[in-house]
Amino acid sequence: MEWLIRQQEIRKDFHWLWLVLPILGAIFLGIVCILFFLSLFMGREEDTSISTESEVSSAFPQEARKYLSLYQEAGRKYGVPWEILAAIHKVETDFGRDLSVSSVGASGHTQFMDKTWVGWSYPGGTRLGDLPDSVDITNPKLIAKYGGMGVDANGDGKANPYDPVDAIHATAKYLAANHSKGEDWFAPNGPVYDYNHDYQNYVLKVKRYAEQFVVATTANTSIPGDGFLFPVVGGKITSPYGMRVNPVTGVHRMHEGVDIGKGRGVPIMAADDGVVVENRAASGYGWMIVIQHANGLRTLYAHMYKEDVKVRVGNQVSRGHVIALMGSNGRSTGPHLHFEIHRNGAPIDPMPFIKR
Ligand SMILES: [Zn+2]
Repeated sequence: MEWLIRQQEIRKDFHWLWLVLPILGAIFLGIVCILFFLSLFMGREEDTSISTESEVSSAFPQEARKYLSLYQEAGRKYGVPWEILAAIHKVETDFGRDLSVSSVGASGHTQFMDKTWVGWSYPGGTRLGDLPDSVDITNPKLIAKYGGMGVDANGDGKANPYDPVDAIHATAKYLAANHSKGEDWFAPNGPVYDYNHDYQNYVLKVKRYAEQFVVATTANTSIPGDGFLFPVVGGKITSPYGMRVNPVTGVHRMHEGVDIGKGRGVPIMAADDGVVVENRAASGYGWMIVIQHANGLRTLYAHMYKEDVKVRVGNQVSRGHVIALMGSNGRSTGPHLHFEIHRNGAPIDPMPFIKR
């Protein structure tokens, strides 16, 4: 009898355990999963925001954002400014969106010649470095043997120029190998020139993009306490700062400010306290007003009509003061304010300075 009771008790115990253990296990697994994803998420956020995100300009294209941490990682590893890697990726294949093989045989995300990738001591091939397709240039052992620039950066056993991780790392490796300490990356015979021997059409193009992708910061420019005021209440940015393509001619041209749309006759405000230093007709701009601010920066406002201007040269204006009304004067397709910020006489990306 006693034996039977004990047997039942044990069986009861077993029932209880079999029910509770999986539940406990599931809860534990759930917590581990949540913690894991949280750490992944937070880790990634830290990666892009803390040290480097502040340097990325608002003109850095949306379609390239997915490669940003890759440029930064490869740049850090080889000591190459990340924006140069991004600019080369842009110029070579439009951020990997045009991966067709070039006329001379360059391939992949950053358009390497086969022999630059696998090593120039590899026998045969064309003078420019194209090899027959039968040669497996993705073989890391082959690259190690012939001293090429190809890298298996993602550790999948292949150094693949069509893999963005491998290609961007190889580009960084190549630039670093051709760079001497303190040298200008864009010098007429510098590292970027080594990448593609065309100063006017290649080096300067890469340079323009690279400069556009980062916010230039110098020690002597401080962003005013609360930033600049957005000069049009309720205005919308209709065209950002940066390189843009004319839809008709297809020509790339630098847009040196931001366009803010709202409507004809809408008040335009001074972005901060300052003195009006220019107030005149200007070709393309129709009419323009320039205000000098205490921090050394200047703001420029354009496309107004003369009769809508409320200030004169020499006027002291305060932040928010209405200086003119919105127009469509000059090279303009509709009423908008073209707004620029200048430092040392050159336009810079206004967005980091604007507070809405
Ligand atoms: Zn504009």
